[in-house]
Amino acid sequence: MILQVAIDTPLRQVFDYLPPSAQAQDLPPLGVRVLVPFGRQRLIGILVGIVAESAVPAAKLKSALEFMDESPVYDPVTFELLRWAAEYYHHPIGEVYAAALPVSLRDGQPVSASIELWSLTEAGSEELARPSSRRAPQQRALLSWLAERSSATTAQVTEIFKRAHLKTLEARGWAVPNLSHSTGLGLADDLGTVEVHPGGLALTGAQSQAVETILAALSAFSVHLLYGVTGSGKTEVYLQVIAAALAQGGQALVLVPEIALTPQLVDRFRRRFSGGVAVVHSGLTDSERRDAWRAAHSGRARIIIGTRSAVFTSMPKLALIVVDEEHDASYKQHEGFRYSARDLSVMRARGAGVPVILGSATPSLETLENAAGGRYAKHILPQRPGAAQPPRMSLVDLRRHAADQGLSTPAMQAIDQHLKAGGQVIVFLNRRGYAPSLFCNSCSWVAPCAHCDARMTLHRRALKLRCHHCGAQAPVPTICASCGQALLPVGQGTERVEETLMRLFPDAPLARLDRDTASARGAIQSVLERVHSGDARILVGTQMLTKGHHFPEVTLVVILDADQGLFASDFRATERLAQTITQVAGRAGREARPGEVMIQTQFPEHPLLQRLIAEGYESFAASALEERREAGWPPYSRLALLRAEAKDSAGLDSYLRAAAALGHVLNDSAAKESASKESAAKDGAVKILGPAAALIARRADHFRAHLLIETTVRSSLQRFLARWLPQVEALAGPKGLRWSIDVDPLEVD
Ligand code: ADP
Ligand code: ZN
Ligand code: ZN
Repeated sequence: MILQVAIDTPLRQVFDYLPPSAQAQDLPPLGVRVLVPFGRQRLIGILVGIVAESAVPAAKLKSALEFMDESPVYDPVTFELLRWAAEYYHHPIGEVYAAALPVSLRDGQPVSASIELWSLTEAGSEELARPSSRRAPQQRALLSWLAERSSATTAQVTEIFKRAHLKTLEARGWAVPNLSHSTGLGLADDLGTVEVHPGGLALTGAQSQAVETILAALSAFSVHLLYGVTGSGKTEVYLQVIAAALAQGGQALVLVPEIALTPQLVDRFRRRFSGGVAVVHSGLTDSERRDAWRAAHSGRARIIIGTRSAVFTSMPKLALIVVDEEHDASYKQHEGFRYSARDLSVMRARGAGVPVILGSATPSLETLENAAGGRYAKHILPQRPGAAQPPRMSLVDLRRHAADQGLSTPAMQAIDQHLKAGGQVIVFLNRRGYAPSLFCNSCSWVAPCAHCDARMTLHRRALKLRCHHCGAQAPVPTICASCGQALLPVGQGTERVEETLMRLFPDAPLARLDRDTASARGAIQSVLERVHSGDARILVGTQMLTKGHHFPEVTLVVILDADQGLFASDFRATERLAQTITQVAGRAGREARPGEVMIQTQFPEHPLLQRLIAEGYESFAASALEERREAGWPPYSRLALLRAEAKDSAGLDSYLRAAAALGHVLNDSAAKESASKESAAKDGAVKILGPAAALIARRADHFRAHLLIETTVRSSLQRFLARWLPQVEALAGPKGLRWSIDVDPLEVD
């Protein structure tokens, strides 16, 4: 017997080993961790196959050292999903399996931890029975809390009480931890059973129709697009469907774009389902991540709320997946293993035979197309419940109205009115910093980044020029490097807009939310808190503002510059723009006060803006899909992008040309193979376009270019990549070359 082991290396292969001599008779199931010799190291890999023969000569085969688990560290569906994902995204399989595990499990920590179960001792009960003294009320509260239950985990105790109090009780001999060895699934019955609190709202007709349809199919694979404007009650639908899934003993996975920006969502889940909710995101420490993983893997956690990578969480009783804001670009990993968590959610739901809900106010065009084709069920929530009305939208023609630092007179007047009426105001601009360029009026010199084909952004508070593409910083020059004249900051960033608004509305306290203000830990929370409490009256920010916030008192949203996305070259740019505008607009008038949205533009007659304002997102999406169909862009074609970068631009170019040539040869031979079958020839061909330079052709001193692979048939793209990439891998490139393959890229750049 030969073991096939996936090892966390960039090599696109599995490695063959003989079973550990001591354990040869008794092989564990696939999906366990196995310690193997690898070069001079000992590494932990995943057992992904057991076969009869190896291509490696017997004399060269080494023995694995030790199996580390008796049962798999992935639930069976996720185990297969990872194998599929490695193939589909053409990413090294060892890295894929490793990516799905918390670091401490990759490092060999045990799957199950012994859990401390706290209970009162006799001395503790006696202490509690004594007449209460006024000292140490917290300790007393903990004593009586423990007395009410037979036992509680450390996590359950510390959710309510300070750890120090628990330690004091232990030191006095009033409470003891009993070790219970958690071995996996059985635990859910006696620990962390989920209480569903009453408080589910009486659903609207549209909500209950969605809930009922999804529940009717709870034990089979189905995809549901939940399409509702912001504030239409999607979260309430998730909560009620999840309650039903949990009632049947299942687990639910909820994916969100970014946890830090949506603390309200997590709170709402915690309030509805006490206990049993584990949160997984990039801000966790290794041990927090491990604990959440263990809770999910053992079935103790019944709901996992997490960002992108949570799609791989081992959940043996998975009964439902929710992808909130399914259109959000953060579901796509942009480096390394470039997967789409949204797409993998659908694959995982299929494998598990459970429903997946894709929720959005601005669904991606792919998802809308799938719904139109009948592959996804579509549920529309047309209105906000209660009094809330959709906001009134209007365009402000920047060519006709005077502007003060980018803020037009009509927008200024509207801000003034809304503030006076007691409303809060959001001003949106998707550009941070003070000004996007520092410009010389006499010779037109613009401060460039020394390392990129890009301009430096002026950050006035930090007194620095910063490149937003490579992160380079430079002192702010006082005079033009070319002619010695004075320099002017040109254009607006959020920092400058903040300054302008403070000058124009000195009495309105202001908060700013962008990557610069949000970098400190807890900074996002404190900005959001200032808006919620009503302390801040104006909120200025970038696209961080578009994500699911619910600010009841915001009545006006001003979008300062809609034009950035109107003429961008990328095929997805207009979709992004329409989503951003609609999402920011959705922050206005979410409760009783009606909302107003003003969009400033130089191109008010642009058909995209016209359609979006007059007819809404769905109408925009229909025409955008028509354009995609005519131009042959996704979802009417399948793309993969080979990106490469190197310091030597000529070397980069010839490398990509050679890669393209290899592709053309493959294409020709595929055409010959299938020449007899006419239709196959048509399906089998892929187009290889490029090399083309990236939009920022030089970044951080590296030249960047790509080849675009395009076809109409998914399977032929996959076949092509499977044959082509090994050849590309073998191709010699310029010194320091880095390349990557991106299947289903979000941007062709
Ligand atoms: P979304 O997730 O679509 O943004 P939410 O579920 O957060 O919408 O609902 C928006 C607001 O409307 C929340 O304050 C929520 O409590 C309220 N709401 C949702 N459903 C109902 C309902 N059926 N009846 C009354 N209020 C509701
Ligand atoms: Zn000059
Ligand atoms: Zn730069």
